[in-house]
Amino acid sequence: MRTIGFIGIGVMGHSIVTNMMKHGLSVNVYNRTKSKTDELVRNGAVWKDTPEEIAKASEIIFTMVGFPQDVEKVYFGEQGIFKTDVSGKILVDLTTSTPSLAIRIAKEAETCGAAALDAPVSGGDLGAKNGTLTIMVGGNEEAYKTLVPVFETFGKTFNLHGTAGKGQHTKMANQIMIAGTMTGMTEMLVYAEKAGLDLEKVIETLGGGSASNWSMNNYGPRILKADYSPGFFVKHFIKDLRIALDEARAMEITLPATKMAEELYSQLAEKGFENDGTQALIKLWWGAEG
Ligand code: NAP
Repeated sequence: MRTIGFIGIGVMGHSIVTNMMKHGLSVNVYNRTKSKTDELVRNGAVWKDTPEEIAKASEIIFTMVGFPQDVEKVYFGEQGIFKTDVSGKILVDLTTSTPSLAIRIAKEAETCGAAALDAPVSGGDLGAKNGTLTIMVGGNEEAYKTLVPVFETFGKTFNLHGTAGKGQHTKMANQIMIAGTMTGMTEMLVYAEKAGLDLEKVIETLGGGSASNWSMNNYGPRILKADYSPGFFVKHFIKDLRIALDEARAMEITLPATKMAEELYSQLAEKGFENDGTQALIKLWWGAEG
């Protein structure tokens, strides 16, 4: 198997690289804050000083940074991936980013004789830890087929959804759904608590019926323990909802429930909770103490 490069060792990147290495892959790593790579390097990953160095030393280069501007920097920036010869290499962006940036990366890759995939994921920090992520891919079909064995090291469900940008569009469809499950779960708990119900029992019972969903099953128990750690950052969910609403506007459709979720999460960030996990939405009702 060819050498992997991985840029962005955060909540998700750390677990994905761990799973890649468990499956015997050799991985070069880079992260803005170097200390976050220490554990992986102790376990056999190789540190490189810049995204450019990662691209030089690796044949398949993954990126999983925070925001579209971070993606832009690691690909097109001063010491970015495209500063070196990437011909024959495959570039895979796992970040949830914009479809237009995915298209720009794919075009530049093609010009350089490389192939690019946009491949955002779903399944949260637990899915990343367990190697069971869902991967939504757009871009070059041949590159997708080549990467299937690598996707299998950290994902369970993956599909190619079309040309560059279609992976990001699929992820936006996913986030529109999650907007509904997160707000639904939150209001459900606020209501059930006020009605004097045993919340643990409610989550268990609803989990067996047609209201069952991933957000409630995974984040409900964390809320009951007042565990608001990320998980999935509030600031990243706001980024995703804004991308989804921008894309919807460009397609001339309105998504009022998604807009409401964006407004609620923005209120939460304004109260200073942008670095909490998305389950912290309940703090709009229950206050900071949980
Ligand atoms: P995170 O913990 O903030 O990880 C992002 C990492 O990228 C950080 O370690 C950050 O470095 C690094 N980074 C940012 N800009 C960089 C740059 N220019 N050069 C090198 N490294 C850079 O976030 P995460 O939870 O892993 O999420 C990553 C992406 O996946 C986001 O787009 C998010 O929306 C998406 N996502 C997350 C989840 C989830 O449940 N967590 C699920 C699906 C998708 P620092 O350490 O210096 O900050």
